[in-house]
Amino acid sequence: MKITRLSDNFTQITFLGILNCYLLRESDGFTLIDTTIKNRHKQILAAARTVGADIKRILLTHAHGDHMGSLDGLFDALGGTTDVAISERDAPLLRKDLSLRPGEPQQKPKGSLPGAKTRPTHLLEDGELYGSLRCYYTKGHTPGHMSFLDERDGTLIAGDALISMGELRPPSKPVWWFPLPKVATWDKPMALDAARKLAALPVTGIATGHGKFVRGGPEAITRAVAKAERR
Ligand SMILES: [Zn+2]
Repeated sequence: MKITRLSDNFTQITFLGILNCYLLRESDGFTLIDTTIKNRHKQILAAARTVGADIKRILLTHAHGDHMGSLDGLFDALGGTTDVAISERDAPLLRKDLSLRPGEPQQKPKGSLPGAKTRPTHLLEDGELYGSLRCYYTKGHTPGHMSFLDERDGTLIAGDALISMGELRPPSKPVWWFPLPKVATWDKPMALDAARKLAALPVTGIATGHGKFVRGGPEAITRAVAKAERR
């Protein structure tokens, strides 16, 4: 496990060099964004202690197993009363309901969707403010993928709407040696549109589910999208 303090408010926790989750400081403690894979709850709790506050709530970008794997472990270890939030659209995926809705691409969601026994306590809607985070639907990687913008300083938590393994890319066009995000992406054109949407936000830094933190703003996202479009 590697702990990287990116700012006073924001810490990255990385497992196996490729799996990220994040501690975001709020006035009452941490919001944990994503939980990586199964059985990492003890290490995540230890990381929060090291950085110096308790985890008060758990926020998920989407329902893939490498983002919600330690949700049950954390929820139990935290006493079973922690607030758990995920988008209204990815919430069914968290209970292994993969049914599609009218108007959606009629193809099965891809990637690992193991489900959790923990039920979300809050379902996020597009545009809502969750603590310091503005929530934006960035659908495509999964049917209800969400990204979060810290309105205090412009930090974007993009989940798998953007990947920064090697270089910043939409998940539909990752670097050749890390094809996993592409394989796990439900609708590739929609995922590319989601990345375009993020380029319109007042971003100052980009935190992704896989890869290093990118110091940069909309121009970095626009460049990543343009590169993906050329291929
Ligand atoms: Zn994913």
